[in-house]
Amino acid sequence: MEGSNETCVYKNPDAPVEARVKDLLSRMTLPEKFGQMTQIERVVTTHPVITDYFIGSVLNGGGSWPFEDALTSDWADMIDGYQNAALASRLGIPIIYGIDAVHGNNNVYGATIFPHNIGLGATRDADLIRRIGAATALEVRACGAQWAFAPCVAASRDPRWGRSYESYSEDTDVICELSTLVSGLQGEPPKEHPSGYPFVAGRNNVVACAKHFVGDGGTEGGVNEGNTIVSYEELERVHLAPYLNCLAQGVSTVMASYSSWYGHKLHSNYFLLTELLKQKLGFKGFIISDWEALERLSEPFGSNYRNCIKISVNAGVDMVMVPFQYQQFIKDLTDLVESGEVTMSRIDDAVERILRVKFVAGLFEHPLTDRSLLSTVGCMEHREIARESVRKSLVLLKNGKESEKPFLPLDRNAKRILVTGTHADDLGYQCGGWTKAWFGLSGRITIGTTLLDAIKEVVGENTEVIYEKTPSEETLASGQGFTYAIVAVGEPPYAETLGDNSELSVPLNGNDIITAVAEKIPTLVVLFSGRPLVLEPLVLEKTEALVAAWLPGTEGKGMTDVIFGDYDFEGKLPVSWFRSVDQLPLTADANSNPLFPLGFGLNYHSAEN
Ligand code: BGC
Repeated sequence: MEGSNETCVYKNPDAPVEARVKDLLSRMTLPEKFGQMTQIERVVTTHPVITDYFIGSVLNGGGSWPFEDALTSDWADMIDGYQNAALASRLGIPIIYGIDAVHGNNNVYGATIFPHNIGLGATRDADLIRRIGAATALEVRACGAQWAFAPCVAASRDPRWGRSYESYSEDTDVICELSTLVSGLQGEPPKEHPSGYPFVAGRNNVVACAKHFVGDGGTEGGVNEGNTIVSYEELERVHLAPYLNCLAQGVSTVMASYSSWYGHKLHSNYFLLTELLKQKLGFKGFIISDWEALERLSEPFGSNYRNCIKISVNAGVDMVMVPFQYQQFIKDLTDLVESGEVTMSRIDDAVERILRVKFVAGLFEHPLTDRSLLSTVGCMEHREIARESVRKSLVLLKNGKESEKPFLPLDRNAKRILVTGTHADDLGYQCGGWTKAWFGLSGRITIGTTLLDAIKEVVGENTEVIYEKTPSEETLASGQGFTYAIVAVGEPPYAETLGDNSELSVPLNGNDIITAVAEKIPTLVVLFSGRPLVLEPLVLEKTEALVAAWLPGTEGKGMTDVIFGDYDFEGKLPVSWFRSVDQLPLTADANSNPLFPLGFGLNYHSAEN
């Protein structure tokens, strides 16, 4: 390790951040600089790799769990091990460990899982989302990571997009208002904080990452990683605006989008990354590439990785989520600098930005995990916030048949009730994608309460709750004396391109199950989905009540809180609900003719009932 604290400005916590950055940069060799720009995946990480290549960052891609149902402390041990390897390098520059904590720390067993963003969009509650961010920050720090790849501030303009549920809304104003996750994760910057300068309040906070810059939710046909064809004026007004709110809160990192704007990939877009984001908007944090995004630059760069690196780094990407072929990346980058195709000043700018964020985040002073945070993972206080979020995110679309009295709230003392459907008792389905695995899973994947669990807790002791995952023939034939039925159907989990879907019908025969049950028993449908789905006219006609529950996460009691009337419904549609896929893309305007408009949501006092 170099020098003592007195001689090294960068080691002095009282020195100004910019002085520390300059001092450290001036001491770095080229390999040390290239290492800082390299982010590698946990599965290829070893302690010698970190020390020998001066690796700047490690990630755990895709919300996946490296330890099967293991404790958070195992994470902390693993990450601290990597950190110690980094600290053992010549200059002792700490790594920053990043994870996709996109609805709570969905990477570890037992963490609190909040609703996915589409549900949070329905709450319209900026303070709630700030509190979710603060809770998530604690649960992320508890496992040793210091960086969450969140929030996604995409404006989802087409529900066929497989990432629609990662977006708060189709409406830019709603997204701007709800961008408070940044302040929740990073802490609230002081009033006079310069927009664009990174900010992280302290050891209970994490570095946030606004993604995916820019226009990811506006692609033609809702194709993931596709092409966004909108004028510059529209790009700015619809897709860029939320980034201004994030920059004002001191968001420390921004992730570039896989998508293109007018056929020009964002990862190679000097105008948008450098001229607009860094120069015009004054962003002083760093831009991280998306996962293997450089390789995906294909045309006109071909399969030539060296060329892809050149074009991306020159466009303004500062740290590359390599994530596997780090030796090749470092070798090619070295070669590009030696040949003058990437300038030293570009490298220095990238490294300065990365170091700035590391200093601001306090990583030099507190590189290791604060084990006292372990008790925050899945704690009651956080579960209460999640339950409140679920409650506020549910949107009541229908309550009672026309001219009849409202169907909800349900009678908790009914004699015999049927709970049925693929989603009634499946915690994995309730959480959706980015939980335990990238594409999500089915079953009791973590600690939490399903809708069925919550119903059983809330009903009277003389109420008989019959659960049939698929309604039995007997039930469908006679109705079996049920007072009412709760049918829980929707989308099984998915992520990214796996979720692109141009049909958008209720999967797993959802519409058929609903109508078959509703034919015999008065029915409430609870629809679990990451976006609006096609609701057949028969479904709308036959069912008594319809609730959009989105992807609510681990706290099923938030659903029964409103369904049984302890709380009123507050959720408002964050997106327009289309009638048929022929209408897509459909966003709110005077001619859009949706089934339910943006902002729609009944409550127990609605005249429309
Ligand atoms: C996604 C990002 C994510 C990254 C790391 C990519 O496939 O587009 O949103 O942060 O993977 O897991």
